[in-house]
Amino acid sequence: MKLLIATKNTNKVREIRDKLGPLPWLEMLSLADVAAIPDIVEDGDSFAENAAIKALAVSTRTGIMALADDSGLVVDALGGGPGIYSARFGGSDLSDSERTMLLLEKMKSVPNAKRTARFVCAVAIADACKVIHSTEGVCEGSIIREMRGTMGFGYDPVFLVEGMNRTMAELSMEEKNGISHRARAIASAALFIQKLADGGR
Ligand code: IMP
Repeated sequence: MKLLIATKNTNKVREIRDKLGPLPWLEMLSLADVAAIPDIVEDGDSFAENAAIKALAVSTRTGIMALADDSGLVVDALGGGPGIYSARFGGSDLSDSERTMLLLEKMKSVPNAKRTARFVCAVAIADACKVIHSTEGVCEGSIIREMRGTMGFGYDPVFLVEGMNRTMAELSMEEKNGISHRARAIASAALFIQKLADGGR
């Protein structure tokens, strides 16, 4: 069974491959393995809608079952922002660390008790022109006041994981893949893929 991981983000591809590794019969492909796909307009109003748009577009174009995710950081003190705009927060030309610095700047007057946030990840799987599975994973935490750690990507250095005195960027990939929003959503998608394979073989 083939599954195309429909994201250009190499960090995400690595995390998803690692999490789906225990399905050894699954042939995982990335966008690098197929002809270039034109940019997909992610104009949904939610993580779930955007994940579905991406999975459907890639699967329809390639004829291969495709898994897409849409994820972001939801900060209570910012009214749920940056949310679905996490990747573009502050403009598309900012680097991950510039974007993170901007987040800290916008939150500098927010007291510690009100700095709660969560990473959210929606995953959709599409095949034969329809979405066949969708699921969501959440990881709770809070936004600290300076960057800590060098692993991961995006907002990881300022996201203190609930119940751990460590930021997401202070966790190894193995540790992050035990608790992250993406790991939780992919774990549920993996169960679905396993069931699909059991029924189809
Ligand atoms: P997407 O590619 O549209 O899903 O955008 C996701 C954006 O949310 C990324 O560019 C990051 O800024 C942020 N994000 C999502 N997942 C993570 C994560 O695991 N760590 C840090 N930032 C993340």
